[in-house]
Amino acid sequence: MSNSNRRDFIKTIGGASLVAAMGLGISGRASAAVKAKVIVVGGGYGGAVAAKYLKLMEPGLDVVLIEPKKSFISHPSSNEVLAGMRTLESLTFDYKGLAKRGITVIHDTVESIDPAARKVKISGGKTLDYDRCVVSPGIDFKWGAVKGYDEEASKIIPHAWMAGPQTTLLANQIKDMKDGGLVVITVPDNPYRCPPGPYERGALISHYLKKHKPHSKVLILDAKDKFSKQPLWLQGFTQHYGEQFEKSGAMLEWIPASKGGEVESINVATRTATNVTGKEFKADVLNVIPPQQAGKIAHTTGLVNAKGWCPVNFTTFESTMHKNIHVIGDACVAGAMPKSGYSAASQAKVAVAAIIASLRGVEPDEPSFINACYSVVTPDHGISITGIYRVKDGQLVEVPGAGGISPMNATPAFRKIEIAHGHSWLKNITSEMFD
Ligand SMILES: Cc1cc2nc3c(=O)[nH]c(=O)nc-3n(C[C@H](O)[C@H](O)[C@H](O)COP(=O)(O)OP(=O)(O)OC[C@H]3O[C@@H](n4cnc5c(N)ncnc54)[C@H](O)[C@@H]3O)c2cc1C
Repeated sequence: MSNSNRRDFIKTIGGASLVAAMGLGISGRASAAVKAKVIVVGGGYGGAVAAKYLKLMEPGLDVVLIEPKKSFISHPSSNEVLAGMRTLESLTFDYKGLAKRGITVIHDTVESIDPAARKVKISGGKTLDYDRCVVSPGIDFKWGAVKGYDEEASKIIPHAWMAGPQTTLLANQIKDMKDGGLVVITVPDNPYRCPPGPYERGALISHYLKKHKPHSKVLILDAKDKFSKQPLWLQGFTQHYGEQFEKSGAMLEWIPASKGGEVESINVATRTATNVTGKEFKADVLNVIPPQQAGKIAHTTGLVNAKGWCPVNFTTFESTMHKNIHVIGDACVAGAMPKSGYSAASQAKVAVAAIIASLRGVEPDEPSFINACYSVVTPDHGISITGIYRVKDGQLVEVPGAGGISPMNATPAFRKIEIAHGHSWLKNITSEMFD
């Protein structure tokens, strides 16, 4: 299958028919409806999809979604806000659609989960029982892992790795920067949320500066030497933001770890990043993307391994630490799957199928998973990568030859269509989450 045909195929199966198309045909089995209570912790990319599909596939279930925020701001496409391509409002969604489906939506924070007693305590003081719990809290930052960078520092030096006020803070700093200024973005080592996101950010900030402050520069300081879709990014960077982008004359420069990109400390007062050899990079705007770990509730519940992420059984996404709790999305260890919104939604459907199978007393089907990731180099230049994943010998692995990546040297028309596909992806997945 050609790259573009493969993407069209994936696009076709990416909608509501995904569960059936992926062979999770549990709804086809003759069995009595089950009565049980499932609590979903976190209403983001993983949790919203899990809550919706639990109710869709087993309407008799009592599904409770607990999420502190009344409206969810999508992280995907939030880099476009930095380039003035869209507003945060266009990325904001509420939970009314899920409530209309009969899901009980509670806007509160889960303070603790008692896996033995199967109880969830929310900060309002209430305790709720569950038969099964789905945990999709996303990430937390490892504050202090980069010396001098903690939550307080992020109020001045934004991370903007959770869309919302942090995105606005970074966008305003870029708008207020003088022409000729330097924007420095620091990128952590793997694993972290959205592997291609920092490079999209570098490209889109460069796009904005090229238009409004053309004497400025963007420097990406990276704690690694390799990254997702690297040849496509490097080609796009060179094409749009510098003749020889690796030379310091280019508007956008990427410094890998082997050339001193790994940042050890941050000085908030002087907006300076210092690398592991002591070299200082003084920025006009500094954006620190810190090292990450599973969301706090995963830690307090004892769902994490020594690295701070949640190990799961890949056929069910049930935690290997505690029974009847399924961890999906960025918080879990998902083998070859990247930490992305699409991965989280795909894992949500597999977890839902496994939960319903177990409540019906049957074995879950063998799952397959999908991820597609669209990135923006300029408003007319998109690139993408897709992958299909299966469980093999207990590991979650990519199926060789089943995914695809945008070709190098594609025509401008092809690159433009990729932008349209990316925007259509966002529309479809947010509709799948919230409508
Ligand atoms: C700049 C950027 C660009 C990105 N672009 C893309 C992209 O193009 N495509 C893509 O697929 N992915 C992209 N991603 C990645 C994507 O956003 C994440 O992978 C995805 O959001 C993970 O879903 P999740 O459910 O694990 O976490 P989230 O979507 O973050 O949801 C977690 C939710 O849990 C809630 N929560 C946390 N703790 C608790 C608690 N104790 N009680 C109750 N609720 C709680 C939070 O409030 C939050 O709403 C991007 C990310 C960033 C930062």
